Amino acid sequence: MNDQIFTQAVLAWYDAGHRDLPWRHTKDAYRIWVSEIMLQQTRAETVVSYYERFLERYPTVQALAQAPEEDVLKSREGLGYYSRARSLQKAARNIVRDYGGALPADVHALRSLPGIGDYTAGAVASIAFGIPAAAVDGNVERVICRYFAIGDTVGTPAVRRMITERTQALVPHDRPGAFANAMMEMGATMCTPKNPKCLLCPVRESCAGFMQGVAPELPRKAKKKAQRVENRAVLLVFYKDRVLITKRQEKLLGGLFVFPDVLEEHDPAKLCASLEALGIRTAYDEYAGHARHIFTHLIWEMDVHVLIADEMAEVKNGQWVTRDELESLPLPTAVKAARQWAMERLKNMKNEGIEHHAAFAE
Ligand code: SF4
Repeated sequence: MNDQIFTQAVLAWYDAGHRDLPWRHTKDAYRIWVSEIMLQQTRAETVVSYYERFLERYPTVQALAQAPEEDVLKSREGLGYYSRARSLQKAARNIVRDYGGALPADVHALRSLPGIGDYTAGAVASIAFGIPAAAVDGNVERVICRYFAIGDTVGTPAVRRMITERTQALVPHDRPGAFANAMMEMGATMCTPKNPKCLLCPVRESCAGFMQGVAPELPRKAKKKAQRVENRAVLLVFYKDRVLITKRQEKLLGGLFVFPDVLEEHDPAKLCASLEALGIRTAYDEYAGHARHIFTHLIWEMDVHVLIADEMAEVKNGQWVTRDELESLPLPTAVKAARQWAMERLKNMKNEGIEHHAAFAE
């Protein structure tokens, strides 16, 4: 196998035609960085409209750094992975503070910014600054494992390092950015996870995985742990034309507004008691329905309940919001169904008093 043959063949294939994606028309480091963060675990086609809207709203690092956090989170609604949006803004603030608002043209400096790992640092360095750095994401890892018929289980630091070194040796010094894009394109459209299109592939003749007939089995991955299931009672607590939301303090979805919830409890009296412990006196009204949200490692099975409060009690990290406010706040996709129920209910509840909905037991 000759590294030069691989690199030239992949570049020639890329030059002959590739998907037209908006971030491929720019060398602006900020725009490339934003695209790379959005592309993590999300298909390019899905990212396009988010990317364009985000950059209209935050055209510069400074604009992003100065924006209220809630607005930035809101702009990611539907894409998920809010911690990435939070890191993006934190990094933007560091770039303004430490580098005068321009991303540093240095792999290590990029790597030290919040939310920027080896892959993103390599991608931004090579595409925006022409630095011959390797950018290894899942797509590239797959191409390299197959091309060199690497049968080791991927995911360990040693194997990751080895794959990065293999990739690094392939990066051409004259066109590192084009090569990074070409490799991503190879992984996304040619050397796909299932049914790689080997017969059309520009490196077929020197691909060890193809020659040995093992390509579709690679890369070898460690067995996934079973996803944990959490049963949550999601509480829609209304007072007149408002509903209670609280800012999550846990790491998962931290800082985002959700509805109060209780783990492994569905008895109406106990749900009221759990709210009373927060200082909110409620009467149970009705069961709204079930929703499920699947995270990478966790499943939320959610039963949504409606309760009516007897006043707008002050709640730590909580806010009583109107229908319009609920619509404009960044709520995670996990509680999308619950929000929909709340919105429906608020439509009918405007200015009605609690006496219309439930009686309070003494
Ligand atoms: Fe991937 Fe097949 Fe091309 Fe090898 S020949 S790089 S396995 S698509």
